[in-house]
Amino acid sequence: MIKIIDGKKIAEDVKEELKKEILALGEKGIVPRLSVILVGEDSASQVYVKNKERVAKEIGINSEVVRLPASTSQEELEGVISRHNANEKNHGILVQLPLPEHIDAKKIINLINPKKDVDCFHPENVGRIMIGDARFLSCTPAGILELLKRSEILVEGKNVVIVGRSNIVGKPLAVMMINLGATVTVCNSKTKNLKEICAQADILVSATGRVGLICAEMVKQDAVVIDVGMNRDENGKLCGDVDYIRVCDKACCITPVPGGVGPMTIMMLMRNTILAAKLKNADLSFPVC
Ligand code: NDP
Repeated sequence: MIKIIDGKKIAEDVKEELKKEILALGEKGIVPRLSVILVGEDSASQVYVKNKERVAKEIGINSEVVRLPASTSQEELEGVISRHNANEKNHGILVQLPLPEHIDAKKIINLINPKKDVDCFHPENVGRIMIGDARFLSCTPAGILELLKRSEILVEGKNVVIVGRSNIVGKPLAVMMINLGATVTVCNSKTKNLKEICAQADILVSATGRVGLICAEMVKQDAVVIDVGMNRDENGKLCGDVDYIRVCDKACCITPVPGGVGPMTIMMLMRNTILAAKLKNADLSFPVC
């Protein structure tokens, strides 16, 4: 019978564990602090930032949101980042993407102190994942690995196919899976024979933003299917990339949308913030994962 991987429940378990870690840090006088920088009025970004603020508060992370107008200049934003880099009190800095078009986002990300880069977008942190010496782990890929681990699904030795090669999901996940001993194929919109490649996967991950891209014929019997997509169907309902109902007849485990990968991403951000606080205080008694 198909097993539905309950991301909501697993995220709640992680949340309780993080609360305990924060209590333990509190006993040493350390309170993790996260600064979120939001430029402009993008409605999706406002919701994401509110959620981060809410979860941070629930688990005991001190968070502040710096709201800047869309007209903020590159120099002004760089000034804000530099001030937050220098601020001894905060441990994590997150710049909510996307930034307004006139801002050079790459330059802004590169300016964040890598030790405070809890979103794990800075080239130093991405490079460290590549060589198997991670400081932080990219949040969505880390959430996927945590879901697999807590569902007792081994990655080592598995044939993994990832559809999507973005810097946020596909690429870092591929590297993290390679580090764990999987054989990984990464597909993109130019991939030939996508169907045949996907049908070889023991673990199939889709992160494309294309509704219904992954149909039952692309899934091997008893494969694990991870749906990262967060899309709206023609009725405006939240859905993933996977033809969920039909694929459920073939897969052995699957993540639903909503309630799969999504709730984990934010927990991994919180975990990185706690780790940043520990790094600053050189308390590394809790391993990352
Ligand atoms: P991007 O648009 O940056 O990347 C999409 C990737 O999918 C690209 O590599 C693209 O290929 C590939 N792709 C698109 N169409 C096809 C196709 N027909 N066949 C094969 N590959 C295809 O998206 P993101 O990685 O940022 O996000 C992907 C999805 O995951 C979105 O729905 C997003 O909302 C969701 N998401 C969910 C998160 C969560 O926490 N649950 C977090 C982040 C993202 P190419 O490079 O060739 O264009």
